Parts: sequence; C-alpha cells; structure tokens
Amino acid sequence: MSEEKNEPLDFIRTIVSNDVANGCKVVTRFPPEPNGYLHIGHAKAICIDFGVAREFGGVCHLRMDDTNPTKEDVEYVDSIQDDVRWLGFDWEDKFFYASDYYEKLYEFAMEIIRRGKAFVCDLSADEVKEYRGNLTEPGKESPFRNRSIEENLDLFERMRKGEFPDGSRTLRAKIDMAHPNVHMRDPAIYRIRHAHHHRTGDSWCIYPMYDFAHCLSDSIEGITHSLCTLEFEIHRPLYDWFIEAAGATPHPRQIEFSRLNLTYTVMSKRRLLELVQGKHVNGWDDPRMPTICGLRRRGYTPEAIRKFCEILGITKTNSLSDIALLEHCLREDLNKRAPRVMAVMDPLKVVIENYPEGQCEELEATNNPEDPTQGERLVPFSRNIYIDRNDFMEEPPKKFFRLAPGAEVRLRYGYFIRCTEVIKDAAGNITELRCTYDPETRGGSAPDGRKVKGTIHWVSADHAVEAEVRQYDRLFSVENPGAEDNWLDCLNQDSLEIKKAYLEPELTKAVPGFICQFERQGYFCADKDSTPEKLIFNRTVALRDSWAKTQNKN
Ligand code: ATP
Ligand code: MG
Repeated sequence: MSEEKNEPLDFIRTIVSNDVANGCKVVTRFPPEPNGYLHIGHAKAICIDFGVAREFGGVCHLRMDDTNPTKEDVEYVDSIQDDVRWLGFDWEDKFFYASDYYEKLYEFAMEIIRRGKAFVCDLSADEVKEYRGNLTEPGKESPFRNRSIEENLDLFERMRKGEFPDGSRTLRAKIDMAHPNVHMRDPAIYRIRHAHHHRTGDSWCIYPMYDFAHCLSDSIEGITHSLCTLEFEIHRPLYDWFIEAAGATPHPRQIEFSRLNLTYTVMSKRRLLELVQGKHVNGWDDPRMPTICGLRRRGYTPEAIRKFCEILGITKTNSLSDIALLEHCLREDLNKRAPRVMAVMDPLKVVIENYPEGQCEELEATNNPEDPTQGERLVPFSRNIYIDRNDFMEEPPKKFFRLAPGAEVRLRYGYFIRCTEVIKDAAGNITELRCTYDPETRGGSAPDGRKVKGTIHWVSADHAVEAEVRQYDRLFSVENPGAEDNWLDCLNQDSLEIKKAYLEPELTKAVPGFICQFERQGYFCADKDSTPEKLIFNRTVALRDSWAKTQNKN
C-alpha cells in the first residue's frame, strides 16, 4: 500500500498497515506549539505525519498546541500554515487549536477529580520540586494530597474563577510519588496564570499543562496514531494514565521516532529565537537559518527537502545527520530544474581587439542540458567582455587549461579567444586583457580541428547587469554546536560574504524566488527583496558536491 516501492516498510508504516488491514481509518496530526518558526526538523515530522496519512488513505490534522499563553503569537500560526503548505501537504479542513478544547479539557480535569484521581495542591513551585525526589530517590507525598473530592472540586472551580494568585495552587494528578518514572510523580495538570492568550483572550486564568492537553487533544480529535519524537516516549505512560483517568475515547496509539539533528546547525526553536533576537542573523528567514522560511529564501525546494527526509528514513536512534546530504538532495533536484546562466563574480575585463567596435551578436545558449524542454536563449556578445579573474593566470602551472598569455580558451556558447596582452596598473595589478577571437570558431569548435581544453563563462561588459550576490557558508564552525556550552561562540564569523556580480541581461527578469545555476559556480536564487533595479541573489548551494564525493570514495 505504501507507495509502489518494493522496499520494506519502516516500523511505523508496518504498524499502521496492520491497523489498516484490521479496518482502522488512519488519522494522524502534526502538533506544533506556535512559539516559533518551523525548522527542517519539523519538516521530517511533517513528512512522516502527513506522508503516512496520505499513503494509507487517511487524513492528517494540523493542530496548534497552544497551551502556553505567554510565548505564542499569531505570526507563528500563519508561518506554520504557510510552511506546511509549501512543503506540499494539505490538512483539508482539519485545522485545529488545542485552545479550542479548553472547556472540554476542563471537563476532563473535573472528571478526574470526581474519580478521586486529582487534587488541588498548595505547595509552591520550589516545594513541589523538593518533594519530587530524583532518579534514585522516591518523592514525598504532598500534604494536600488527601483533600476530599468535594474540596478539590470547589478549589478547582475557584481556581478557574480567578480567586487565587499565580503560582499559589496547582491541580495535580494523584498517581505515585515513588514511581520510577518521575513524570508519574503526581504531575501538574493545571496551573494558575493570569495571562492573556492569543486566541482565548482573558477568559481563562488557569491553563492546562502540555502533557495533559496534548494527549487529550489527540483523543478529542480521534487521532489513531500519535507519531512523535523519542523524547515523548517517557511521557507515554502518563498519556495513557490521563486518557484512562479522564475516561476519554478513543485511545490514540503513540509511536516514537528519532529527531533530526543536522551538522553545523542548531535546531531547537529556543536557540533559533536567540539567534534572531541577538541579531546574529537577519531574522527567522535569514537564508543561513535551518527554518523552512530560511531554506525557502535560500532557494531550497520542497522536493529536495522531502527527498532528504525520505532518504533519512525513520529510526529509533538519535543521531547527527550530515548537512552535506541535504545539500546533495538539493543539487540533484536543481540540476534537473534550474536553468543555466552565466554570471561573473570577480570581473576581469577582456577587450577583443579584432571584434568590431559597436557590433553585437546574439549567441544561442542551451538553458538546461538536463532538460531539453527548457529550450534556448540568446546571449549578447561584443568586443568588451568580463571573465572571472581566476580563469586567467599570468604564469599558469602545467595543468591550467584556462586563459594565459598566448593561450587559447573557449568562451562558453561562443568563440575561441587568445590572450595577446596583459595590462596592469602602476601597482602591478592586472586591470585588463587584450585578446583576439577566431571568427571561424563560433559554436565552440575550430574547422581546422585544433583543440582547446578549457571552456570559461563570460558576460558582455556592454550588456551585463549588476547584481548583489550573497554567498553563504555554514552558520557554525563546529560540527555539533548544540553540544557546546558556549554555542554562540561557535558562530562562523564569515558565514556571509556580499559580492557584486555581472549577469546576463536576461536576469533583470528574475522574480523573487527564481532559481538558476550560475555556470561552473553554483545555484542561486533571487532574493525576496530583489527588484529589476536592484537585483539580489542568494547563493543556494555551490556546485561541488562533498556528499557525492565521500560516497564515491567508500
Ligand atoms: P524544538 O525543540 O525545536 O523547540 P519542539 O519539539 O518543541 O521543537 P513542537 O512545536 O512541539 O516543537 O514540535 C511539533 C512536532 O515536531 C513534534 O511532534 C515534534 O516531535 C516534532 N519535531 C520537533 N523537532 C523535531 C526534529 N528535530 N526532528 C523531528 N521531529 C521534530
Ligand atoms: Mg515542544
């Protein structure tokens, strides 16, 4: 059922496929807290949650797990929806908020109290901590644990009415203070917070704890398979307990998988927020950020991200994935779709002395050799061109096949040119080259059969358009910055380099988001702030594929 591949199913799809065979109609959900922008780690969860539902004919809900009134914002809610849609997934009309269930959750809490399984506790936060014990020592029971059901119902109702200040009381589950799993030691269910909520306003001054709200929201929505990351495994007994104690049906089945971590990247929203607030990057969508909006602005495609998640697969062991694999998936995708253009980043002027002044001809250039349907375009050629400075060497080593004094090179889509003179300024810097061209070599070969080994890119200096090009490097200089105490000290100080480039005139038409390959250099994407008057390109990824290289070596 799962796609038409002959690969064995992963452990999640194996379970789901058995349940489907037994008549289950699959309902999954992706439940972000709207307290930050989504990142590539979330993309993995999204691909699994939505992917499994789609493959097994079910639906996937998008639910904002908005139980923390102070950290949430509509800005995040909107961006989450944009990002999920952009990744290629659809929740149909199944968009929900945990805050929609506040009344039901309150009723569940009342039911748990009526069953004698929850109590209102007057211990302070510090005392609760003290009473909890630790991994080796059992906790101590709260002196308020044995309040009568009537008293608990009364106090909880008054908590809701706002009679008590923040932090003065909590509603706690009555489970077992000696439980080996500390999450089971009478955890809090509700706390008092006189705080404004972005959706419910001031109608509540008590808020459910995440663990309580999360599992019961799943049940309320009829989720069949709660797919989540491994850190929730230890919470599962508590989720089971809440569902039983509240008498909620159905009882979703939780299955955990490992989180995605990437080299040279931090992934938690808290840290990403710190990068933004500390102005270490230019916002959530800075193209160096691992956020979905950052990757999008950088020129990543949803196809590349989905492919990456597919290759990673689903496992039960946390590990650090190589960012080079993500870049590899991107190159593979862009290689097929991105049109080629010529751009000169570090210009060296070349005057072709035997080409008539003022003349211009249009040379035919293939847009994408991988995709003939992309056709051809015309590139203007004239007496004055720019080439990249590093395609010329005055004293070339033996295997340098590009331009050098007296040497001949092929201009991409154009003619052979030969360097006849090197012009320098007073300080000895090369300022210009003089060349001749061979009119017989249009199209890239000589009728006399003579060969040139090198082909270089160029633009017509008389026609080129200027652009600002932003070249990015890894945001961090160490492989696992998240593991460092002073992770902010590991920021790569040279992660952004701004350059001026000369581009084919065609590129004035590039709209924001347009992705192309600058031949021999890499893939570039027109920035969201790019305009025909001021073109701005982000370097998406360089051409050199370190992932493919390491794979070939093995
Ligand atoms: P963060 O730790 O980055 O703040 P979070 O887990 O608190 O993330 P949520 O908004 O709660 O963020 O995440 C929504 C869903 O995305 C959860 O089900 C979570 O398991 C999943 N998720 C978050 N980070 C990753 C990751 N790195 N890899 C895979 N899934 C993830
Ligand atoms: Mg979280």
